[in-house]
Amino acid sequence: MTRTSQVVVIGSGQSGLAAGYHLRRQGLGFVILDAQSTAGGAWQHTWNSLHLFSPAAFSSLPGRLMPTQAHEEYPDARHVVEYLADYEKRYELPVERPVRVLGVHRDGPFLRVETDSGTWRARAVISATGTWWRPFLPAVPGRGDFGGRRLHTVEYRGPREFTGRRVIVVGGGNSGAQIAADLAHTTELTWVTRRPPRFLADDIDGRALFDAATARRRALDAGRSDTGGVASLGDIVAVPPVREARDRGLLTAGPMFTRLVPGGVEWADGTRAEADAIIWCTGFRPALSHLTRLQLRGRRGHIATEGTRALDEPRLHLLGYGDWTGPASATLIGVGRPARDAARAIAELLA
Ligand code: FAD
Repeated sequence: MTRTSQVVVIGSGQSGLAAGYHLRRQGLGFVILDAQSTAGGAWQHTWNSLHLFSPAAFSSLPGRLMPTQAHEEYPDARHVVEYLADYEKRYELPVERPVRVLGVHRDGPFLRVETDSGTWRARAVISATGTWWRPFLPAVPGRGDFGGRRLHTVEYRGPREFTGRRVIVVGGGNSGAQIAADLAHTTELTWVTRRPPRFLADDIDGRALFDAATARRRALDAGRSDTGGVASLGDIVAVPPVREARDRGLLTAGPMFTRLVPGGVEWADGTRAEADAIIWCTGFRPALSHLTRLQLRGRRGHIATEGTRALDEPRLHLLGYGDWTGPASATLIGVGRPARDAARAIAELLA
């Protein structure tokens, strides 16, 4: 069966919901398709102790402030899931789930969206599928040799199963630092990073990051020199658990090892560390396989965009994958503006 909608949004995480909010304001007909059976996007799958790096009011989608969470200045992931579930109900956003989009195809004046439960035809598509679904693992020699447990950030749930174990955490970003802090008290922890960890000043949180990302985009758009954006401030937000572990001397990072060996890892000088588990906090890539047939991928697997619009397919918008689809667009507070711009551009296209 083929159904028709002016716009199909793929993904009902924060990006898809922000898109829905603004499509509604533009008076456009739309449907949001999501592969999971429950609301909340990637936030449903993070580890138990994960807290946002901004207070609730600075983690809000358009139209509705995130309520504060009792006893928590920085809300936890469960609170975000509840907020997103409430958001989609409050605005009566038409989410269909579980519906997995298998591919988007050109079909005359339409884009045809093939799913595991039927076909949609749309005049425009917003892809908002996030990155959580494409964990990145770097190529390290000896990868097949290590006999212990190997996990990526996406598989980490909490410290309990690692109590008393020798654990190596790889990665100097927020995930690496937060997971290392989570494990620091109860495991024999080794934290390794490619360069010495760069903590942001303790009084800087996601608010400052959003401002820095926005200032950078404005400077670049106005032809001024690059301000350096978020990267100029540091890599790791010193959220309270990270700060506490760091201040107690539990969070010192060593250099990256050069290979894996059956019982652990080895550095260039031959030094070894034994390990029961290695947790790779090495990032994500945009989940874009459903767009393969449109043949839009360029450098680094990114699709060339102007704002959110794909340069080579103006009926397609990309939302929430990172700075290349709008400043801070992969954050709760940052996705609102690019979502608004995408909805406006689609309204103009269809007018
Ligand atoms: P997602 O939440 O991943 O949602 C995408 C949706 O698309 C999912 O529901 C998925 O089921 C669906 N989907 C995927 N593929 C298909 C398909 N083929 N067909 C149908 N549906 C599909 N941001 C902040 O603002 N503050 C923070 O403190 C913060 N902390 C973070 C901590 C970590 C560890 C990580 C990883 C990210 C953090 N972020 C934070 C960043 C950001 O908010 C998240 O990455 C966010 O989940 C991105 O939302 P999204 O809607 O773009 O994607």
